Amino acid sequence: MSTAAPVRAYLGLGGNIGERAACIAEAIEHLDATPGVAVTARSQLIETAPWGDTDQAAFLNAAVAIDTTLAPRDLLEAILAIELAMGRVRSRKWGPRIIDIDILLYGEETIDEDGLTVPHPHLTERDFVLRPLAEIAPDLEVGGRRVADLAAAVGAA
Ligand code: AMP
Repeated sequence: MSTAAPVRAYLGLGGNIGERAACIAEAIEHLDATPGVAVTARSQLIETAPWGDTDQAAFLNAAVAIDTTLAPRDLLEAILAIELAMGRVRSRKWGPRIIDIDILLYGEETIDEDGLTVPHPHLTERDFVLRPLAEIAPDLEVGGRRVADLAAAVGAA
């Protein structure tokens, strides 16, 4: 299913196994090669400490902006297919991963369905999501606050 006009969406990427930078670059290539998805901006890579389960290697994180004609659920399916193709093994919650791709924002939409929550529930509280997002979309507003301000607030906490 496709929506009529392209929607600007933002995705968060991260990984902490293997050639982390190469994995993120490959995931972005897969995204851009997906019919109905065009990557329009990408942040730099940042290294972050693991969240939740801290007994694992540091992560590299990035954010990308995409223009997409895929409906949110189809975008999620495409993302899960990319994670699978790249050999992501789901082990423990918050555990090590080759690649994790999250839908942070999908236009102005709020989605609260089984298996899909947008804006991403942890968007406004996690430094490793907000910092790269602030680099490519500082003036974007989430819940009435600028992403750059949210990132600064989390960084200062
Ligand atoms: P995780 O592996 O912890 O990133 O969780 C992946 C699962 O989270 C997916 O199977 C999705 O069904 C679910 N999910 C819920 N909301 C989102 C979202 N905004 N972006 C990506 N995955 C999501």
